[in-house]
Amino acid sequence: MAPERWDLEADVIVIGSGATGLPAAIRARDMGASVIVVEANYDVGGHALVCGGNVALGGGTSQQKKYGIDDSPDILFRDLTDWSVVEINGMPEYRYNDRGVQRALADNEARAFEFLLENGVEFVDKSPDNFGAHGIGISAKREHHCVWDKGQSLESPAGSGGTTLMRPLEASARSKGIRFLLNYHMDVIFREQPNKGRVLGIEASFTPTILPGTTTPLKSFHSGGNIDMSAKTVTVKARRAVIIGTGGSTGNVNFRRIFDVRLTEEYPLAAGEFSPQDASGEIAAMAIGASLWGTANQTFDRNGTLRKRPIIGTPTNYIEWKKESPIFPKVGATGLALRNWQNAIIVNQMGRRFYNEMHDGYPAGTFQGSLDPYVPADWRNASRIKYTPTNYIDAALAINEGSTAPDYAAGPQWAIFDAGAVEREKWNMNQASVRPEYFFTAGTLEELASMLTRCPHQKVAMPAANLEATVERYNRMVEFGVDEDFGKPTPMHKIATPPFYAAWATLTVHDTYAGLRINMDCRVMDMKGEVIPGLYCGGESAAGCSQHGVGRAITQGYIAGMLAAVEPLG
Ligand SMILES: Cc1cc2nc3c(=O)[nH]c(=O)nc-3n(C[C@H](O)[C@H](O)[C@H](O)COP(=O)(O)OP(=O)(O)OC[C@H]3O[C@@H](n4cnc5c(N)ncnc54)[C@H](O)[C@@H]3O)c2cc1C
Repeated sequence: MAPERWDLEADVIVIGSGATGLPAAIRARDMGASVIVVEANYDVGGHALVCGGNVALGGGTSQQKKYGIDDSPDILFRDLTDWSVVEINGMPEYRYNDRGVQRALADNEARAFEFLLENGVEFVDKSPDNFGAHGIGISAKREHHCVWDKGQSLESPAGSGGTTLMRPLEASARSKGIRFLLNYHMDVIFREQPNKGRVLGIEASFTPTILPGTTTPLKSFHSGGNIDMSAKTVTVKARRAVIIGTGGSTGNVNFRRIFDVRLTEEYPLAAGEFSPQDASGEIAAMAIGASLWGTANQTFDRNGTLRKRPIIGTPTNYIEWKKESPIFPKVGATGLALRNWQNAIIVNQMGRRFYNEMHDGYPAGTFQGSLDPYVPADWRNASRIKYTPTNYIDAALAINEGSTAPDYAAGPQWAIFDAGAVEREKWNMNQASVRPEYFFTAGTLEELASMLTRCPHQKVAMPAANLEATVERYNRMVEFGVDEDFGKPTPMHKIATPPFYAAWATLTVHDTYAGLRINMDCRVMDMKGEVIPGLYCGGESAAGCSQHGVGRAITQGYIAGMLAAVEPLG
């Protein structure tokens, strides 16, 4: 139902200014619609702004053609629905993709690439490759890389390649007259009737980012087109359509556990400190009848959903945040970059090792060359993979020891090391930036173990005797040069020189691979399989995809923006 008053209005309202939102907004504007982008954060960009700038697009982009790569929409579609391709842990990468959604991606990815070029994004002029690839299909190389050599790090909160993707899109959007309502979090989508009729607009609440120790909200890097408001809530009318590009649900513990019950609270969201993927798009759409879909795609068994990082001592451990970052006071620590896992062991919440620390996981996803020979859709592809269930992540999740009611969560993992490791890693502990509740040091292992419950995620006391026994056994295995317990190749360094350290080394949650049901046009569907008129979605909040990242989000934004702009006027 409509609210009592509308504070703002435009033809198309885009929720979120990330990899889905900015292309959607620009495309709708190019088609003649007026556009307001509603963004919860203080700046545009979402995860796409802090991403690596590796853009997977196929189906025959101009760059693929230039470098002689044979690809087409049909090849891409075949790839992305090939049930016979499986990762080395047996997870079928494309089997649960929605065919309609994939057909739409296949038909539009190359167009989306040209659209990026037209809107100022520059790519390194070299053959597309597989660097950064996860689940991009196996017949052709499809990763394009944004240019990253013009000092753009100044414009990125993470100093990363995503700036070179998102700042040009932002500049294009602002120059085309798109308006931005920053610092407003969409909470409600209005529909004519609770579960019937077209979508009318949204309500959003004021969410300024105020850093610890300050009173002034952070400002966006660029400002032309920003709508200046500070009301507690704002209603925004959509004359034609609303597009959801809110980035998924991996930051919302209850919501993400719908898909994989093991995703308990101790696993932080990669880059959640910049933009939390809090499922708000999904929740608001479900409140007006939208359906979830394609849930089989969202599990930790997919490589890439959860990752081990070499940055320890802080829960914001996906990115090594620089002190110059505008959000550094919120992040609180750079963390310690561990170059060599020979310098530490990892223990569970009860102080016991559970795996070979040198092992990260298995190679990310499938891509050209990962299966040889590859015969499309031939059942023998699956029989050709060497099934290798060696996954650090599965091992970490399998932990039951010390887990308690009600969730029996696996709990945190801790890197344990000594003064010798500090020297070998050349860490300057005076300047080391770690978070107090995620990093501990003590003269004895007994004292160290007793400190860990100061971390909010360590729900049980770590028995000191366990930690002491673990370290003693590990030290003995170092003497013999053989890890009899978990097969770490030639364990090299004893943990024997005080002080001793415990640093947060828990896995980080990454992508969302399941969300709202959409059709080929990116229109959101309800529980009866009918379109909700005037509602679109793309990117990580949309279901039907197993592809990681910005490529599919950009393409779905491109599709949604084009069609939203020509919805009938309400
Ligand atoms: C560190 C890092 C590196 C990565 N590197 C790569 C890479 O190299 N290549 C690649 O392909 N992918 C990469 N990814 C993944 C990629 O960034 C995401 O998959 C992609 O950005 C998802 O696009 P999206 O539009 O769904 O969400 P986002 O880009 O995250 O955008 C969502 C936006 O919606 C806003 N929002 C959320 N809820 C609301 C609300 N209720 N109201 C208003 N606004 C809201 C958020 O603040 C955010 O700005 C990386 C991700 C991370 C974290």
